[in-house]
Amino acid sequence: MYYAASVKEGRCDGCGVCVPSCPEPNALELVRLNGKAKMIRISPLRCKGCGLCITMCPKDALEILRR
Ligand code: SF4
Ligand code: SF4
Repeated sequence: MYYAASVKEGRCDGCGVCVPSCPEPNALELVRLNGKAKMIRISPLRCKGCGLCITMCPKDALEILRR
């Protein structure tokens, strides 16, 4: 069991503000959906659950979940 960040459905607008806050390489990436809208994608294996990205998000789109 471990903790990792997760995106709340429908809340991320792809602003990218959270990306530079993550200290783990490639744990947090901005990806394109359908070639248009951007959204954040979290790699649960790389994320260490530190919570830094959550404090940066202006949309309250991230949360820490137990896995
Ligand atoms: S919880 Fe920490 S390690 Fe995980 S994606 Fe957010 S900033 Fe990166
Ligand atoms: S999770 Fe929040 S800070 Fe990160 S891209 Fe989405 S809306 Fe922006």
